[in-house]
Amino acid sequence: MVMVKEKACRNCRMVVMDETTCPNCGGTTFTTFWRGYVVIVDPEKSEIANRMGIQRKGKFALRLSR
Ligand SMILES: [Zn+2]
Repeated sequence: MVMVKEKACRNCRMVVMDETTCPNCGGTTFTTFWRGYVVIVDPEKSEIANRMGIQRKGKFALRLSR
């Protein structure tokens, strides 16, 4: 069994699996050291999305530790 590590974009904190370019911001630097996440389903109505500056659906890390 192969474990795929989720990683978070250093720029916008979007969590992805095996993308090399962030689908949200186009960033190319990721870290696997992140903690907690929020799932944004309706970025236009979500207060969290607003506060975090998220404009698209997806999973976003709350904290990057490195
Ligand atoms: Zn990004």
